[in-house]
Amino acid sequence: MTLPAIHCSHGGAWLRDASGTRAVSKGEAVMAAADTPLLLLNAPLVATRLGYPDLSGLDLLELYAFIHPARFVVPTPKGLAKALGLAEPASESDIPALLQTAADALLATCESDAWAEREGAWSALQSLTRMRWPWAVLLNGRIARPERAERWLFSRLPEWEEAADLPQPAQVRLEQDEVLDRLAALTGSQAETRPGQRAYAIETSEVFAPRPRQGQPHVLLAQAGTGIGKTLGYLAPASRWSERSGGTVWVSTFTKALQRQLRQESRRAWPERRPDGSRPVVVRKGRENYLCLLNLEDALQGGFAGRAAILAQLVARWAAYTRDGDVIGGDLPGWLGTLFRQRGITALTDRRGECVYAGCPHYRKCFIERAARASAKADLVIGNHALVMVNAARGRDHAARPTRIVFDEGHHIFDAADSTFAVALSGAEAIELRRWIIGPEKASRGRRRGLAARLADIASYDEAGGRAISAAREAAEALPGDGWLQRLVENTPSGPIEELLAAVRALVYARDESGGAEAGYGLETEAAELEGAFVEQAQAARAALADLRQPLIRLGVRLEAILEEPPDWLDGPGRARIEGARHSLAWRIELVAAWEALLERLGGPADPEFVDWLAVERSDAREFDVGIHRRWLDPMKPFAKVVLEPAHGVVMTSATLRDGEDWESAIARSGARHIGVEPRLSAQQSPFDYAAQAAVLIVTDVPRGDIAALAAAYGRLIEASGGGALGLFTAIRRLRAVHGRIADRLARGGLPLYAQHVDPIDTGTLVDIFRDDPAASLLGTDALRDGVDVPGHSLRLVVMEQVPWPRPSILHRARRLTGGGSAYDDAIIRARLAQAFGRLIRGRDDSGHFVVLSPAFPSRLLTAFPPGTPVQRVTLDEALQRVARHGSGDGIVSPDRAQSSA
Ligand code: SF4
Repeated sequence: MTLPAIHCSHGGAWLRDASGTRAVSKGEAVMAAADTPLLLLNAPLVATRLGYPDLSGLDLLELYAFIHPARFVVPTPKGLAKALGLAEPASESDIPALLQTAADALLATCESDAWAEREGAWSALQSLTRMRWPWAVLLNGRIARPERAERWLFSRLPEWEEAADLPQPAQVRLEQDEVLDRLAALTGSQAETRPGQRAYAIETSEVFAPRPRQGQPHVLLAQAGTGIGKTLGYLAPASRWSERSGGTVWVSTFTKALQRQLRQESRRAWPERRPDGSRPVVVRKGRENYLCLLNLEDALQGGFAGRAAILAQLVARWAAYTRDGDVIGGDLPGWLGTLFRQRGITALTDRRGECVYAGCPHYRKCFIERAARASAKADLVIGNHALVMVNAARGRDHAARPTRIVFDEGHHIFDAADSTFAVALSGAEAIELRRWIIGPEKASRGRRRGLAARLADIASYDEAGGRAISAAREAAEALPGDGWLQRLVENTPSGPIEELLAAVRALVYARDESGGAEAGYGLETEAAELEGAFVEQAQAARAALADLRQPLIRLGVRLEAILEEPPDWLDGPGRARIEGARHSLAWRIELVAAWEALLERLGGPADPEFVDWLAVERSDAREFDVGIHRRWLDPMKPFAKVVLEPAHGVVMTSATLRDGEDWESAIARSGARHIGVEPRLSAQQSPFDYAAQAAVLIVTDVPRGDIAALAAAYGRLIEASGGGALGLFTAIRRLRAVHGRIADRLARGGLPLYAQHVDPIDTGTLVDIFRDDPAASLLGTDALRDGVDVPGHSLRLVVMEQVPWPRPSILHRARRLTGGGSAYDDAIIRARLAQAFGRLIRGRDDSGHFVVLSPAFPSRLLTAFPPGTPVQRVTLDEALQRVARHGSGDGIVSPDRAQSSA
């Protein structure tokens, strides 16, 4: 390989060409890249490092995605070396040579008989050549033309099989012995006996007992200290119950990391496939997570242009090899989408509910339909909180609704319910509905079509149905159309909803006092003290929505009638398509009704069940949505009704379910009391020796609000620990400011620093990179506080920039008022601290420091940390010494200096 290669980091840039490797300035690097295509790894990241957004070149990640679709790789030089079995680079200056060797190795794969992903490559390459994909020139000639024409993707994918519904589960009661035997089988005979895990398994098994009364499920709240082995603790009774009863257990998680872990651990209890080829364990996600084959076909046939068309080809390569078609958090590399700087991947999913079900030529191969069918027959379905709630609220198939549910990461149920049962009439939401009904306004390249086109056969067969479609189409003209936000800003709204949104925007700007205006954040104001003119606009908008809902209802009735008395021409697939349409119509009717209810209230007395407010959403001071919002004051009310009441057994479990030793808020936040159920409680302490493994250091001399001091503290702490630090922020602005001040210096010292909201890399991949490199550190916000599972040496220091106060939003103020004032805040902060602390110690051999940079950390928050954890208030210098000592191999805390409370 004679192609030159470049590597850039915060520490510098290195170029390798015919004369060898040399360090170059950013300017030289940019000139070299403009001159000739360079080999590089992760072009957007290199472009960010060089400050040259137009950078392009031969990106090895694109080549990897073509040659090994659906295969995992950490997208760093070290990760690539590992994936290809090459020697890892010893220093940054070795990386350009590695890139050349890696390119050679990948290109050589194409000529090897052992290439597992050869099928489809030649055909894809022909298209990629026409698109002038830079790698095509190098691949042509290496990939032999197959002797027989390759089948095209859509004929290669397997079809799913329709199967009879499962009978209802047998009513069984699990005995303790069988649960413990199953647990022993899962953990293995060599495994140490863990009393906490055994007790936990037995407690959990109780929820699988027959339900005593209708609407009264067994509910267990189980606090499971980190390290007790809760996953196998509940999989033991779950697998035993499913085996004996023939029923399905759902395990619901909040993070993808836990889903991955569950998929692996479930292998101990179930085989990958049953003798009939079906899968006993299925991961199920919302439909917007899966590749829509019709959208992909559309993209491959001209719907996508330029770089996006190349992305579509790479996704098509992956589609032939994927396990389940999950493009978000599945086996499609998370970094692939970010290489193309567009929302290309999202456009390949079915986000807008435009699925035509059996009317789709790929229906029998559709990943979404396959996952839905597989989960109906599975013993274990691994889902997420939002999906479980949405499924319970408006699932298509009543029989497939979950009845035995383990909510792991149970401390997130409240937030998941809060968003699931929220209502927002905003510009972005309303235009989606308009597009669903009318179709896109401009001549679109894609296949997106409106209701009339999707149901053309109904319109021509059924006159009343046809009239309803036309009326809905006409009424939908009242919804915001393309360019609505611009019109709002210019105060030239069009139609009653835009007029209302313009009034909302004006009112928010007039009244907001949150300070968000200067900071570039979103703005909001209560929906109170509204003037007559505003209320009139709201009522005009409500009337327009009512005019839209009526024909939608009439259409629903017609579809129902057609299904009841089907015409001769209606075959099975046609029927399925109408059922699909009726289902998506039903939830849009519900949505419009909820909007009407929201508007009806404006100007009237407030409903104590809800919190309503008006908001302008902004990111970096740029507006992106305007709307009226409604949340349940207690979202566990609707949760209890739609999820708990129909269930038979529910476990809510987490390492941080209760507040210290106090169960009251956990019980209230379970929703059980809303259906008159008093949950059972169980608590198992973590087996970790926190006194020896961890120490909390509260640094008292970094002044709040002093960014320079904050950045210096972060930089020195990361240096003291030699990397391995997770930095947690409550504001993106401060995160960026800190990163900007310290990243270069740290990188020059061999300590790479990555950051959410800065690096053009998705969060999951950032965590993979962090896990893979013990010298790396990672800065981030909320998602990292909860979703990082990095056991071992890679994470040995957590630094929080300050006490994680809740954002004083209107919603928060309302809940605080009814939730006990400052005690409510304290409980939230303690939960956040406990979550963040939980990132540090994941295994028996882990050790590290948890540092909070807060001059005034209230003592009442200290119960957030596990009992026995030493806590000290120290100066930054002392903290640095302690962290450095740990970095050089010393223990965490010297017993004489430790104190259990500060
Ligand atoms: S059935 Fe629906 S989601 Fe599946 S491929 Fe077809 S249009 Fe897409």
